[in-house]
Amino acid sequence: MRGLMMEYQLTVPSILRRAETLFGKKEIVSCLPDKTIHRYTYSDFAKRSKKLAVALYELGIREGDRVATLSWNHYQHLEVYFAVPSIGAVVHPLNIRFSPDDLSYIINEAEDKILIVDQVLLPLFEKFKSLVSVSKVIVIPQTQELIPKEYLNYEIVVASGDESLFQPFEGDEYAAAFMCYTSGTTGKPKGILYSHRSILLHAMSSLLGCCDIGITERDVVLPVVPMFHASAWGFPFNCTLVGATQVFPGPHLDAGSLLHLFQTEKVTLTGGVPTVMLSILNKLDSDPHKYKLFLRIIMVGGSAVPRFLVKSFDERYGIKVLHTWGMTEISPLGSSSITTSKLANASKEEQYDHAMKQGMPVPLVEIRGRNEFGFIPWDGVTMGELEVRGPWVASSYYRDTEPSTKFTPDGWLRTGDIVVITEDGFIEIKDRSKDVIKSGGEWISSVALENALMGHPSVLEAAVIAVPNEKWMERPFAYVVPKEGKTISFDDLKEFLADKFAKFWIPEGYAIIEAIPKTSVGKFQKSALREKYNKEHVSV
Ligand code: AMP
Repeated sequence: MRGLMMEYQLTVPSILRRAETLFGKKEIVSCLPDKTIHRYTYSDFAKRSKKLAVALYELGIREGDRVATLSWNHYQHLEVYFAVPSIGAVVHPLNIRFSPDDLSYIINEAEDKILIVDQVLLPLFEKFKSLVSVSKVIVIPQTQELIPKEYLNYEIVVASGDESLFQPFEGDEYAAAFMCYTSGTTGKPKGILYSHRSILLHAMSSLLGCCDIGITERDVVLPVVPMFHASAWGFPFNCTLVGATQVFPGPHLDAGSLLHLFQTEKVTLTGGVPTVMLSILNKLDSDPHKYKLFLRIIMVGGSAVPRFLVKSFDERYGIKVLHTWGMTEISPLGSSSITTSKLANASKEEQYDHAMKQGMPVPLVEIRGRNEFGFIPWDGVTMGELEVRGPWVASSYYRDTEPSTKFTPDGWLRTGDIVVITEDGFIEIKDRSKDVIKSGGEWISSVALENALMGHPSVLEAAVIAVPNEKWMERPFAYVVPKEGKTISFDDLKEFLADKFAKFWIPEGYAIIEAIPKTSVGKFQKSALREKYNKEHVSV
């Protein structure tokens, strides 16, 4: 017997409709490239998104067509996020930190029809323009300079759309709405296609109080994470669904500019990778009384959170750092390090230890771990590769022609993350499968060593890689960036690590470098360090 509930499709325009109906007066704030602040209401946003949707339709965009963006985080990008899926087309944000070669490869593979680009990013577009064949380029005006004649002006396009002709997509909720490419450091980037349904369910789940994120209408949310990376972790969708005030930093991602916006806009929740939050902490520490902050949560993910980051924000500024884990393939939220009833009364130090874990899967995401002996026990000790499934987990890659090793025969995604799972169902990532160090048959977690090293008072950043060793096969080697004006000796570091790890975990060697190379989304790029090591054969 079928249930007798309505067949209500979970689609992106339903989010827009809700925001317009209920939160029309709430604000969306953007810091523009010239640092001026743009403000408008959800009402303005909905009107302009609908006008843009109609205009794009008139420019030839139809269901399933891809519309790419090359943009920072700002209100016009948000409009595109909603306008494109609202006519059944697919919005495809491009990672502006990809190389021109990768960008042209992606645009051609995705067969993007229209490209919407920030005027300040035109120099980047010019680098690969001749390699791509989009039918139209729309430029978002941001400077006094004239927009070249061969391009359309975004504002003129929006103005041309007749809102009364807006017909929201009401088709199949499984239709594609959003596309993003992985920022993997090996091989070509791969396309992931989010559906209307997966976007809605992901937004709903991330909003649940049980994930400890709990964004509400009262929140003022500033996503530091770019809208070109895994849909800015879904903030544009979940914030719009609940009518939270949204604050976009534009291209101004330095700690000073972010702290200024946190203060002036009374931001209550932000999210980004640990490296950005580290720079914010350092800036705050350099003058602790300069900023008055209203932040209740800093959501951190993308890489493991160093313990001292959690402790320092809590102890010195009363701000909770919430550790989350995800992947582009998972829309991206997979787990969050919630404070369970068991932990609520634990000591602060225990809570900080706990915050190092990537957390419990969010509702509807299922997890399991597997090693060469089969599924791992949930004992917090046995390591294995994490596998996941759920309604916002990719089932395959876009146009993947080779048989993918990323999916198990029974349809779970193999994450490539080596984890232990505790008896309470908390994931702790020990490494990426390609980064884990296998020394004398035992696994050493490079992440654990890095986090410990970054807790040393003179260390700004540290990354640990596996280097070849005749006796042990592999040994850990640490690259360390000292804090400004500090010097560090190897013996000092060894001593610092001695009481924290088994002897065989302590790195064999180390080298000081100016900065750890980063990926396009701000994670440590260990492949570059491995290349560096191989080139230089650094040994101590
Ligand atoms: P991306 O698709 O670029 O978001 O990268 C996904 C990968 O980032 C995951 O498979 C993990 O290896 C890593 N990652 C994401 N969040 C965390 C975290 N909280 N701790 C450690 N690694 C993480």
